Amino acid sequence: MSYFSDLGLAEPLLRALETKGYTDPTPIQKQAIPALLEGRDLLGIAQTGTGKTAAFSLPSLHRLAANPKARNSASCRMLVLSPTRELAAQIADNMRGYAKYLNLSVQCVFGGIPVGKQSRALVPGCDILVATPGRLLDLIDQRALTLRHVEIFVLDEADQMMDLGFIVPLKRVANMLPKERQSLFFSATMPKAIAELGKQFISNPVRVEVTPQASTAERVEQWVTFVNQSEKQALLTLKLKVGLAETEGFNAIDRALVFTRTKHGADRVVRHLATAGVNAAAIHGNKSQAQRTAALLGFRKGSIPVLVATDIAARGIDVTGVSHVFNYELPNVPEQYVHRIGRTARAGADGIALSFCAPDEKPYLRDIERLTGIKLDPMPLPENFQQDAARLPLPARKPAEAEQDARRDARDARGRGGPAARGGPGGRGAGGGGGGRNGNVSRGGQARDGKSRDAHAREAYRGDRPAAPVRGPLFNPLGNEARGAVEAVRPAADRPVAARPAGDRRPHGDRPHGDRPHGDRPRGDRPQGERAGGDRRPQGDRRPRGNGGNRGPVTRAS
Ligand code: AMP
Repeated sequence: MSYFSDLGLAEPLLRALETKGYTDPTPIQKQAIPALLEGRDLLGIAQTGTGKTAAFSLPSLHRLAANPKARNSASCRMLVLSPTRELAAQIADNMRGYAKYLNLSVQCVFGGIPVGKQSRALVPGCDILVATPGRLLDLIDQRALTLRHVEIFVLDEADQMMDLGFIVPLKRVANMLPKERQSLFFSATMPKAIAELGKQFISNPVRVEVTPQASTAERVEQWVTFVNQSEKQALLTLKLKVGLAETEGFNAIDRALVFTRTKHGADRVVRHLATAGVNAAAIHGNKSQAQRTAALLGFRKGSIPVLVATDIAARGIDVTGVSHVFNYELPNVPEQYVHRIGRTARAGADGIALSFCAPDEKPYLRDIERLTGIKLDPMPLPENFQQDAARLPLPARKPAEAEQDARRDARDARGRGGPAARGGPGGRGAGGGGGGRNGNVSRGGQARDGKSRDAHAREAYRGDRPAAPVRGPLFNPLGNEARGAVEAVRPAADRPVAARPAGDRRPHGDRPHGDRPHGDRPRGDRPQGERAGGDRRPQGDRRPRGNGGNRGPVTRAS
């Protein structure tokens, strides 16, 4: 079965898929759709980017449409829970697209915006409701919603739900759902605690696993540049300036996602980039919903080519055509690395992930390499880096602002369980720097306040917790025009270079000297961090690069 038409989906769904240009189901869709059409529960171990939204949406829409029912007031027939607002909006948007030719209504509710209009919109009831847990409970507590009529329940990104401290709200939801229902439970990883949570929702499920948790996307080229913290900003600025100016070639950047460990670090990176003439926006929990939506929309449409994000804000976001992911700071939780680089190489495209590793982040790099089983290829600093970096303009900043930044970094680092909190190296504040010319002065991160990681994560993501009702407009954050272009079917010539099959790309030997992988460069040019030979893998040991364009993710099902 390699076409959607073989899976037994209703004609209006096939028509909607045709509109989107999807013909072949992805591995998770092939595995999940037949079982879900039969009404089975499902345990899905899959990251975003595998096509899991369609995997759960299509058979659910089919089943709802096959059994039409009058809408009950303040009710829904299908409930999808998502950990973040952006992901909720994205799922709702996708589902509206798939339900285009069906008479089914989709509503989306999440925190950070007034609740009044959302509760009014639920008065007549809807068929599908996509929600974040906090706002969902808020609406239930206000009696604007009941879960009594839910026939299909989907819990998406369960591991992130747990990271964000949503475990208690989820247990409340579990108790409110009718016993007779179909349940789908998705998580990118399945440690014991998540599996236990799953048991509360699903019974006798079909298990579908796509790309085992510890393996990073095969189509992503993964590189690491060893660089001092104080030089990271200059390195990023130069990479982006050069990459965005080029339309093809190894260096060309079409759209880049930059990850920082802290919210203020993200803002600071954006400030520096703006001063250097690079158009970027930040997305994190301190931004208003309107700012986050505008940034995401600009990034999707291409008017903002660089999005600087923290892990929580970016998780699950699906933007086609992300050619590069920059890990400005390495995540201190290695699984986050897998999630971050999963933002590129989506839907069959190739991508490049470049991590900036400061000396005190090397233990994080080792954790990442251990988890993924892949040794990242070292990429040296560009030629003339010091001279070019010295010429970059700096944003005007008063000394008091520098101090304020350092204090905020320290606070953020505590909140995110920075290196010191985790017993990690150095104790440098997340986002911190050595105070170099382009650096960020910060030495926070050591202090602990005794709060759990969950508690901090909840604080970092305050917007999704139940809030007092405020009156205001209902907000459709993505809008229809944001329903991403069908990049997967773009002709190769139109696609960014990173999205093309490896054969189209310049071989390593052809690349500008500064960007050549480690082994191609004279020894004296290599950055300090790579010379320690002892933990280097011989060239022949490296996994082959960039020939995975046609390879699908590994799929296992039982
Ligand atoms: P998801 O994992 O649900 O976030 O999906 C990742 C991306 O793949 C989204 O842009 C989907 O629209 C796209 N997608 C999902 N299914 C297919 C398919 N069968 N063929 C091509 N693209 C797909």
